[in-house]
Formats: sequence, structure tokens, C-alpha cells
Amino acid sequence: MDKPAIILVDMLNDFFTGALEVKRAKAIIPPLQRLVTIARKNDVPVIYSNDAHYPQDVEVTRKWGKHAIKGTLGAQVIPELEPDKTKDYIVEKRTYSGFYETGLDPLLRSLYKGEGVKTVVLGGLHTHMCVRHTAADAFFRGYHIVIAKDGVEAFTQEDQEQGLKYLEYVYNAKIMLVNDIIREIVR
Ligand code: ZN
Repeated sequence: MDKPAIILVDMLNDFFTGALEVKRAKAIIPPLQRLVTIARKNDVPVIYSNDAHYPQDVEVTRKWGKHAIKGTLGAQVIPELEPDKTKDYIVEKRTYSGFYETGLDPLLRSLYKGEGVKTVVLGGLHTHMCVRHTAADAFFRGYHIVIAKDGVEAFTQEDQEQGLKYLEYVYNAKIMLVNDIIREIVR
């Protein structure tokens, strides 16, 4: 896998235990814990792409109601996946895509001694929404895309399956199990 970075999308309290709780999403926590542990050990960058909303954000006022409001407990990463403050990166976002009006792209381009990340490995929530929009923006910018199949979830099984199919078909994303991703990033 060429110059990978792990991007964890919205692994936040509000999506697991708060305002927009999705019970089935809990299953992705252990695989993602394994993935970030191995990534850190192998100097693969780990980036958290986190909703940090203002109450007036379109997504809040027109669609989902209050969730992941900047500065609240709900907007914090779940304790099981607490960022390593000495190594990991946190990039806040205000809508579905981790790239939209954020510093994510310049960060990716600055990594690997300025050679830049070539492959984004996406995990987190939700397969058919924020993961999908982040994948779109990654595709537009020329990154290769890997989706951690057991590291992403959606509201329903149908959303999950359709989400994965769309990512594979439209962005040529490689859908891989976390264990197989780990095999490729261990150096
Ligand atoms: Zn949001």
C-alpha cells in the first residue's frame, strides 16, 4: 500500500452513545483499535476527521438537529479510540466531507517528508454519508482509497451494503478487512 494514512471519520460520543446513537456501530470499535495500534507502531499517520459543529451549521439546522457541537462531550472521540496526542492528527469538519473547507488535504500532502500520502484508508461512520463524501473528495484529489470493511458502519445493513457498493463502483475504492490492511502496513 503506497504511503497510507488512516482516517477515522466521526468516531465521536454523539454517534455511539449520544444524540445520533447507532447501536450496530459498536462492532467496528475493536477492529479500529487494532488498526490504529499497528499504524502508530509502523509510523503510518492516524488522522481523526471529526464533526465539530456550530449550532447554525446547515447540517444541524436543516437535517440532523444538534449533534457533535464543537466543544461538547458529544464531539469528543470515544474513549476506546482516544487519540495519541503525541502522534495523531485531529482535523475538525463542519459537514460530511473531511476535506470540505478543512486543512485535511494540505496535511496529507505534508506527510511522508513532504512526498505526501498516496492512499487514504477510511474507517468510521457512516459508510453511506460522511465516509462516502470524504471518499469523493479524496478521489477528486487523486488519492487511492481503501475502505476498512469491518471498520465502517451505517444505520442499517442495507445502508452499509449499498454504501460499500457505491464506494467500490464510483471511486474504485478497495474494500478490505482490517486484518488484511494491517498485513499491508506492517513494515
Ligand atoms: Zn454532522
